[in-house]
Amino acid sequence: MDGPSGSGKSSASKGVARALGLRYLDTGAMYRAVTWWMLEKGVPVEDAAAVEARAAEPVIASGTDPDAPTITVDGTDVSAPIRTRAVTNAVSAVSSVPAVRARMVGLQREIIGSGGIVVEGRDIGTVVAPDAPVKVYLTASEEARAARRAKDLAADPGASVTVTRAEQARRDRLDSTRKASPLTRAGGAHEIDSTELSLAEVIEAVVRLAKE
Ligand code: C5P
Repeated sequence: MDGPSGSGKSSASKGVARALGLRYLDTGAMYRAVTWWMLEKGVPVEDAAAVEARAAEPVIASGTDPDAPTITVDGTDVSAPIRTRAVTNAVSAVSSVPAVRARMVGLQREIIGSGGIVVEGRDIGTVVAPDAPVKVYLTASEEARAARRAKDLAADPGASVTVTRAEQARRDRLDSTRKASPLTRAGGAHEIDSTELSLAEVIEAVVRLAKE
């Protein structure tokens, strides 16, 4: 399941995994974990050569239980710190570095193995698993996406809908215009616009596709 930020991918893909008894992988969390590590180490994240030079170092591990997904870097649980605005605003730069992507795609394919998993990201249908039996491209209006994101960040005083919308527009622009695996709808992907749909309706639509 691919799509831009705030389209509802995380809730929908976890829900689909639960409904079908499958594993679940959040590839965005992996790019966020690498970004968190780069910031911790003081690597200048806008400097692609500096990021590339250290891309092989962080050890990322993802748990695939949709009821309790986990993400660690060098054994440290980073589920909370990877959701900060500092990481969110740096992740597009880090994930545009080909050496970072090559490493994450390799890890993701190892986890996917022979299948039985719902994977969410930006390049799953195009690059990571082009032979996936069901591909979904989840979208929503820019306004609906910003409102959802702002709700996620309600505890952060800087995260008004206006600020969130601007930061999200910037991230989506970077993610869809970068050279390495830009966000785009994969061939054969079913596009679902979640703007007017409830979470249950999105899950139901994807489950129906999976059972076809
Ligand atoms: O899905 P989420 O918003 O957590 O993803 C964080 C960032 O990770 C995205 O903005 C994008 O830059 C990057 N990403 C990616 N490829 C993926 C998943 C996420 O480049 N498959």
